[in-house]
Amino acid sequence: MQDCIFCKIIAGDIPSKPILETDDIIVLEDIAPKAPIHYLIIPKKHVVDVRAFESDEQNLAGNMLFAAQTLSKQEGDIPFRLLVNNGHEAGQRVFHLHMHFLAGKDLPTLF
Ligand code: 5GP
Ligand code: ZN
Repeated sequence: MQDCIFCKIIAGDIPSKPILETDDIIVLEDIAPKAPIHYLIIPKKHVVDVRAFESDEQNLAGNMLFAAQTLSKQEGDIPFRLLVNNGHEAGQRVFHLHMHFLAGKDLPTLF
């Protein structure tokens, strides 16, 4: 999609060094990390957020979770937090679905 930073990275128009890549997912280090380990699990297909998921994309949703498992295993089964912002009011700033993978320190409880 035009004017989408993640689509440009996925298309190779902006160079990147993916941590992990599969047929339908790319994992990048966040440009402004909020934890010692902060990855972004991003579907290659442009989906705006979870609300825009189509029913035939259920495999993709599951694959994003399995990517998180793989990332944890790569670091020796480390604990991690997954976070997805859906909509501007929820804190989303890049409107191409992505799951934050946060780890590497004791994270504050949210609730
Ligand atoms: P959101 O607030 O939409 O959930 O999170 C967007 C995230 O993308 C932010 O944590 C931000 O630092 C990260 N980000 C924004 N632009 C880029 C970029 O060009 N490359 C990478 N790797 N991360 C980015
Ligand atoms: Zn996109």
